[in-house]
Amino acid sequence: MGDRKLLEPDVQFIQTLGERGADTLKKCYQCATCSVVCPISPDNKPFPRKEMIAASWGLSDKLVTNVDVWLCHQCGDCSAKCPRGARPGDVLGSVRSYAIQKYARPQWLARAVNDPKKLPILFAFPAVLFVVLGLITGLMDFTPELRHGHISHGMFFSSWLVDMIFVPSMTFALVVFAMGLKNFITDMHEAAVAEGKVARTDLNWLDLIKAAPKVILTILRHDKFSECGENKERATTHMMVLFGFIGLFIVTGVFFVVLYGSMAWFGSYELAWHSPYSQLNPVKWLANVAGIALLVGALVMLKNRLFKDEKVAKSSYQDWALIGLVLGLAVTGLGAEVSRLIGAATVTYVVYFVHLMFVFCLFVYLPFSKLAHLVYRTVAMLYAEYAGREEALKKAA
Ligand code: SF4
Ligand code: SF4
Repeated sequence: MGDRKLLEPDVQFIQTLGERGADTLKKCYQCATCSVVCPISPDNKPFPRKEMIAASWGLSDKLVTNVDVWLCHQCGDCSAKCPRGARPGDVLGSVRSYAIQKYARPQWLARAVNDPKKLPILFAFPAVLFVVLGLITGLMDFTPELRHGHISHGMFFSSWLVDMIFVPSMTFALVVFAMGLKNFITDMHEAAVAEGKVARTDLNWLDLIKAAPKVILTILRHDKFSECGENKERATTHMMVLFGFIGLFIVTGVFFVVLYGSMAWFGSYELAWHSPYSQLNPVKWLANVAGIALLVGALVMLKNRLFKDEKVAKSSYQDWALIGLVLGLAVTGLGAEVSRLIGAATVTYVVYFVHLMFVFCLFVYLPFSKLAHLVYRTVAMLYAEYAGREEALKKAA
């Protein structure tokens, strides 16, 4: 007789999954239809049926360290075909959300970001911070056009103040991610080796990084999304939002370098090349195209969520919070620019201020929110590629 193992269900875990859209997981009767129809599930040790068992038994440790949970792209094919309406796609989505919260530090902030009751405080916090820092440093000017003769976001909310707030915010997000990802990879590796899921049993960080080009190309081309059946059009929306963010990060980086480079060159802020930049500037074109891509992508996401069949996919607070953030960033970003161009001084400063609040929420709350899946999934795919998840399966087949 084999060794007996006493399973200890984590009831709190099951409850949390339920709150995040997996309230149907107990309906599963293990028919395995989901594993058969999943377009990206491998033949050996397929998902998501085994994850449905683990979830219904409350095996949180087994699930949060499971690389397969992150290979799922939540296309919904399995949920659409599930004869019991157990929505396995949503169950895996809620496990990912739980894992993000588990690995993020500090835990109190992770809990707050995932608690709808805390949203007003989290959103109001940057407003208070901006005003306090602006008043202390004198780097906020509420009527800059009276002194400088033109409307300028940089004169209203100084670039110094922006960088004083956002450089530490970005650093905070990077540190939180670095700490969480280190534990995530280590746990995932130990679990994959123990289950015999991977061909490679050592963990070499340099080799792991070497797998990055292939994985990043797969992500940028959205190869996995194109294998979906039910929600094939999701690839376009996802691409618009992803490339919108990438475009805006490039624009921010270029203008950051231009501002501080020219300031160092000329030795003065007044002489430096700062905003507002000409609409003929190619970097500005990229900013506008990226902003529009973000807006359109977010609107289509909103429409899809509003009209989604709840039997196939249910939206959780984390889903709505993500759409709200992306939409808020796009609307206020474009709104600040348009209102500046038409000369509405007060409106443009208010909208720009709110835009900066959204940017603060993006950076500081990113490692705790659903958007962190971009980073965690990339790392899990990197690990699967490095460790030879596919190779192990071919050998085992
Ligand atoms: S989730 Fe649905 S399709 Fe998958 S095993 Fe359970 S009942 Fe079958
Ligand atoms: S949601 Fe799509 S990718 Fe994820 S397990 Fe279901 S069928 Fe597979």
